[in-house]
Amino acid sequence: MAKRDHVRNVFGDLLDAVSPARCPGCGHLGVLVCDTCAATLAPAPVVAPPPPLAWWTACFAYQGVARELVARAKYRAERRFLTLLARELAVALERAPPFDRVTWAPASAQRIRAQGVDHGEVLARTVAGLVGTRVAPCLVRAPGAAQTGRDASARRAGPGLRAVGPVSGVVILVVDDVATTGGTLAAGARALLQAGASEVLAATIALTPGPGTRSRGPAYTPGYSDR
Ligand SMILES: [Zn+2]
Repeated sequence: MAKRDHVRNVFGDLLDAVSPARCPGCGHLGVLVCDTCAATLAPAPVVAPPPPLAWWTACFAYQGVARELVARAKYRAERRFLTLLARELAVALERAPPFDRVTWAPASAQRIRAQGVDHGEVLARTVAGLVGTRVAPCLVRAPGAAQTGRDASARRAGPGLRAVGPVSGVVILVVDDVATTGGTLAAGARALLQAGASEVLAATIALTPGPGTRSRGPAYTPGYSDR
């Protein structure tokens, strides 16, 4: 991570430390997510991973408070929400097949310029630290439009991604914030497999509930702490 990003992240942590936490759902002061809002977090819908991904998981359905959580982590750079979501991802990854390396679906150059940091990278590095796996940038993005706001067919085609660094024979986990069609993750998996990766898995904070999908088990039980 560049020094400027590091400084920005440390500054973000300091801001988080001095400003009181507010629930992203209802604004209740003093908690990251209040019990009432956490009870509305729905488990991710059960959807087969888009090929050639071998496996994927997601923490939540992308609706209600989950949308606000992602927005705070992604667009407003609230580090405590990134940390909280990284912990949720680490829990979801307890059921994952073994993997050797964590990487992330890189944001567009445009977004990184605007925000000064790739939140996907911060998320991936935090997750890798929690699960004790090596993290490395394995994907770079070709110049082009961000996925957000593109129509469904453009999203399915995914952004132009290519593999970088030695990935031969490695099982790679790609971390991303939200999967809609999984186009970005599938494009990343194709690039990594073409470069010799042995398998590609994915983990996202949220998954958009698609038509005909069902929720997995009972409503999510929160395990948050306000740290
Ligand atoms: Zn609340």
